[in-house]
Amino acid sequence: MVSLANPEAVVVGAGAVGLCCACALAEAGLRAVVLERDRPGAGASWGNAGWVVPSHSVPLAEPSVLRRGLRWALDPHSPLYVPLRPDASLWKWLWQFRRSSTESHVRRAVPLLVRLQRRSVELYEQLAARAPDFGWRRAGSLSVFLEPAEYRAFLQELDLLRREGVAAEVLEGQAARAREPLLRREVTGAVYFPEDAHLDPARLVTGLMEWARQLGVEVRTRCHARLVRHGTSVAVELDDREVRPAAVVLAAGAWSALLLRSVGVRFPLLPAKGYSVTLPGRSTPQIPLMLSEARVAVTPLPDPEGPPRVRLAGTLELGVWSEELNPTRLSAIRRAASRYLELDPEGGEAWAGLRPCTPDGLPAVGRPRGLENLVVATGHGTLGISLAPVTGELVARVVAGEEPAELELLRPDRFGPRTG
Ligand SMILES: Cc1cc2nc3c(=O)[nH]c(=O)nc-3n(C[C@H](O)[C@H](O)[C@H](O)COP(=O)(O)OP(=O)(O)OC[C@H]3O[C@@H](n4cnc5c(N)ncnc54)[C@H](O)[C@@H]3O)c2cc1C
Repeated sequence: MVSLANPEAVVVGAGAVGLCCACALAEAGLRAVVLERDRPGAGASWGNAGWVVPSHSVPLAEPSVLRRGLRWALDPHSPLYVPLRPDASLWKWLWQFRRSSTESHVRRAVPLLVRLQRRSVELYEQLAARAPDFGWRRAGSLSVFLEPAEYRAFLQELDLLRREGVAAEVLEGQAARAREPLLRREVTGAVYFPEDAHLDPARLVTGLMEWARQLGVEVRTRCHARLVRHGTSVAVELDDREVRPAAVVLAAGAWSALLLRSVGVRFPLLPAKGYSVTLPGRSTPQIPLMLSEARVAVTPLPDPEGPPRVRLAGTLELGVWSEELNPTRLSAIRRAASRYLELDPEGGEAWAGLRPCTPDGLPAVGRPRGLENLVVATGHGTLGISLAPVTGELVARVVAGEEPAELELLRPDRFGPRTG
């Protein structure tokens, strides 16, 4: 068993990203320890929708979201809500988001995100063959529309994905209902993406924990880590000691920016709160559904020990740090489900989590300039489950001294110079 006296790599944060990094480092032969201040999966990685979706490779920062954003931002019932307040980090983030939301950014980001997500699908396939069952299914996903204008706009944007070879099957009206019998008659049309996959995120976290243990990784819970800078390197400070490993991997989700700041790196990362409701043993869709106008994801979660469940997940409240359950947001998600689906959305178990969001909708992976042993692995926003395995692989390559070409767009210092 690894001891904190001699780890070669310390990973801060036991969410999906941190655990995938630790497994990849251990597979590369390193002695790795994960430090988690609470319990594994305590952050965003537990109750999310569990989608792994090359079809969702358009970054959040894109021109049309700006147009919708103005309409949505101030409405607490809308899928995207920005509670405006005099907070410099919020305004700076919004300004950078606006600057990033361009056609040229989308043209650069889409091919990269498709490639990374496809690699994650391959890595999940390998994991599913070795680790405990985490509900991995490659059944595709269906994006569903009520409003003809939204549907038409989406069909036009499909070219972006098709250019990257993402297969998409257009299903108008009755054809959509034939594909998914739970859809209401009001549905205008849908697009089926056969390449997409999904999983049960809570079982992913527990499966990764077990797989990490088998690889010899030590996961320490209730262990709050702080970062301390010593010249060009970073140490990890715990209550009773300081550890100076060869590599420190920062995978603390939405909280990563605070830790980065403590070692003089400014990174514009904000939490974007989302909610889910998990309904027990009801009529379950055959495949994951995106209720597009409402931005609500519906995921069937097969349970080996009981009847299948269905999870409704959505909303994005930018800059909100609390994980408190807001009844207005939860009822907006339930209402959306009943507009699209023949399904009783009441009851079940509610959950909220904070997505770590960057202003350009791309994660931050790699070494910040000037700090030789720190590797950042955060900022995955709405794609942290999708991108966790490929992030682990990239982090292991960086720690081994490689400079993967994929990381050019993901540099942690891309928003400005390092300070301090
Ligand atoms: C409603 C909702 C639906 C979503 N659906 C999807 C989806 O379908 N597909 C998808 O790809 N993504 C989805 N996401 C996004 C995804 O959940 C996140 O991107 C992902 O979970 C982030 O993982 P992470 O490991 O980076 O962070 P987290 O899971 O938040 O983990 C960070 C961990 O670091 C720990 N930590 C923080 N500070 C410290 C410290 N100082 N010391 C030690 N530990 C620390 C925290 O306790 C936490 O456990 C969704 C998110 C939400 C909210």
